[in-house]
Amino acid sequence: MDLKDHIRTIPDFPKPGILFYDISTLLMHPQAWRTTVERLGEVIAPYKPDLLVGIESRGFLTAAPLALHLDLGFFMVRKRGKLPGDTLSYSYGLEYGSDTIEIQADAVQPGQRVVVLDDLLATGGTMAAAVHLLQRAGAEVCAAACIVELNFLGGRDKLPVPAHSLLTYD
Ligand code: IMP
Repeated sequence: MDLKDHIRTIPDFPKPGILFYDISTLLMHPQAWRTTVERLGEVIAPYKPDLLVGIESRGFLTAAPLALHLDLGFFMVRKRGKLPGDTLSYSYGLEYGSDTIEIQADAVQPGQRVVVLDDLLATGGTMAAAVHLLQRAGAEVCAAACIVELNFLGGRDKLPVPAHSLLTYD
C-alpha cells in the first residue's frame, strides 16, 4: 500500500506560501492507518524501548496506538501549562520568540529507553527540543520517528539521535 495516496496537501496553510501535509485523510482510512502503525512498529521495535513518547498533538495520535501495538507505555510531551503535577520543562527558540514544552516529572526514570514520535518532521526544531528535554530528564533517547519527513528542510540534521520516517518529500 502506498501511504502517500492517503496524505493530503493543502496550500497556504497555516500561512500563505506554506504547503501543509495533512494526515487527517490517513486517519480516516483504517487500513492505511493500521499499515502506518505496523510499519512504524517494524522500525521502532528493534530499539527495544521501554516507553514511547508523543509530541502534542498529532504526535499523540501517532505514538499512542503504536505503544499499544508494541505493548509499551506512553507519555506526552505537551506545551507549557497543560500537564498537572510536577513537570520538567525545556524552552527553545522559534523564528520569532520562543516556546516551552513539558513532561510530567515522574514520566520517565533515568536510563529508561524511549523513542519519541511526531506526525511530521519539518525544520526539526520541535523534535530536537523534545529529545533534549527527555535527555535532560535522564532518558536514553534511542531514536526519533515520524510518519512524514520534509527532506528539503533538513530537520534530521538537528537531531542528536537516529531519525526515521515512513514517507519523505523532496
Ligand atoms: P518543525 O519543528 O519545523 O520540525 O515542525 C514540526 C512540527 O510542526 C510537528 O509537531 C508537526 O506536527 C507540525 N507541522 C509542521 N509542518 C506541518 C505540516 O505540513 N503538516 C502537519 N504538521 C506540520
